[in-house]
Amino acid sequence: MVTSTNGAHGQNGNGHRPSRLRDYSAWTLFRRGLDGSDWPRAWHDHDLRSSYDAVIIGGGVHGLATAYYLAKNHGIRNVAVLEKSYIGGGGSGRNTAILRSNYLTPEGVRFYDRSVKLYEHLAADLNFNVMFSQRGHLTLAHNDSSLRTMHWRTEVNKLQGVDSEVIGPDKIKELVPYLDTSERTRYPILGALYHPPGGIIRHDAVVWGYARGADAHGVHIHQKTEVTGIDVEHGRVTGVQTTRGRIATPIVLNATAGWSTLISNMAGVKMPVQTFPLQAAVTEPVKPFLDTVVVSGTLHVYVSQSDRGELVFGASVDPFASYSIRGSLEFTEGIAGHVLELMPPLSKMRLLRQWAGLCDMTPDYSPIMGPTDVEGFYVDVGWGTYGFKAGPVAGEAMAACIADRRPPEIISAFGLDRFLAGRLVGEKGAAAVGH
Ligand SMILES: Cc1cc2nc3c(=O)[nH]c(=O)nc-3n(C[C@H](O)[C@H](O)[C@H](O)COP(=O)(O)OP(=O)(O)OC[C@H]3O[C@@H](n4cnc5c(N)ncnc54)[C@H](O)[C@@H]3O)c2cc1C
Repeated sequence: MVTSTNGAHGQNGNGHRPSRLRDYSAWTLFRRGLDGSDWPRAWHDHDLRSSYDAVIIGGGVHGLATAYYLAKNHGIRNVAVLEKSYIGGGGSGRNTAILRSNYLTPEGVRFYDRSVKLYEHLAADLNFNVMFSQRGHLTLAHNDSSLRTMHWRTEVNKLQGVDSEVIGPDKIKELVPYLDTSERTRYPILGALYHPPGGIIRHDAVVWGYARGADAHGVHIHQKTEVTGIDVEHGRVTGVQTTRGRIATPIVLNATAGWSTLISNMAGVKMPVQTFPLQAAVTEPVKPFLDTVVVSGTLHVYVSQSDRGELVFGASVDPFASYSIRGSLEFTEGIAGHVLELMPPLSKMRLLRQWAGLCDMTPDYSPIMGPTDVEGFYVDVGWGTYGFKAGPVAGEAMAACIADRRPPEIISAFGLDRFLAGRLVGEKGAAAVGH
């Protein structure tokens, strides 16, 4: 069991009680509107300490959520989150914010369902509006084998208590009138997996909410602080080297997604992970007309409408491993063609912008979570194109894993040792373009 060396229980890193996260009530909004005073900063800059009880590398949703739950659930507050650029600058600020739990394996469904449940209460927990809209999620089937996989997923989902059903073209048309459900298309729609609890969220609000919550509990968030080395002596972690100096620590968590192999290599830990770019795009905003997330694995495309009215388009990862986050014309052309095959009336809409992020892909499309052969070096990686939805459950589980020095049951299937042991958790049928 890891204990905090940072002051009395219930106090933050500066010796003050954690603020109670009530700053954003209707009353304070009204009061500050009248007196015109500034809002307090949501998180603070700190001097880098020479030692911490735990160091988390990566200021995305996974790193910040782990820090938050370490402090909140386990009283471990002398924690640093090190981020080489700005928080949310990686995949957590670049994703298309689709949340769902209709996976294929029982291990995956249980895990992602816990995350959806945490997301349902996250706004209240963090006192920060994360704008979770459970508008339903549709995965289209254009051939018999997809339809078979969807029936399979429905059964696994139902066994785990997750709401999913296979629906036919008439019901699909009712849910999304703009979809071309006729038989004359290149890939006619035969049915869909409908998952009512799925939906979208505001990704930057989730990142900022966790950062604010972790900061209020005494965690130090250090932006513009790059980890350049990890010190390992006699098989155990002793510290990290950063662009701002060395930090001594017995515990390091690698939560760097697209950069995770570079960080694990610093500790001498090899992982079966490859990094690929993933691109997305948004259109100009229009009035709300699409209140369901629509995914087509066959056409490698998905569409949702954001709360600002933009249509958000995404696809599969680029075909080549790379650390480049430049968009490509190929992507724009491909996505436009495929979206129009699904929804021809969108032909007049204009794309506003496109972007890319990095995805750390594993062979079985499931994450790698838990301890490694280097004592004190933990990983929470392999999030591929689907890790944003896992932020809360991964944070909760990794915090428990670090505090108790063993993985909790909910992540026991996702250990690094599964690749050597041949115990893969195959999620490709539910995690590829569906995110
Ligand atoms: C276009 C796109 C769409 C996506 N859509 C979805 C979706 O709809 N639903 C879903 O669930 N997931 C989606 N994802 C995947 C999701 O974004 C990621 O899996 C998730 O954000 C990973 O979060 P993280 O906190 O692990 O990593 P990140 O948010 O990537 O954070 C890692 C951080 O580590 C930092 N870092 C790296 N190296 C160092 C270093 N040496 N020192 C210090 N810091 C370092 C980086 O700067 C980065 O901020 C999408 C991804 C992309 C790119």
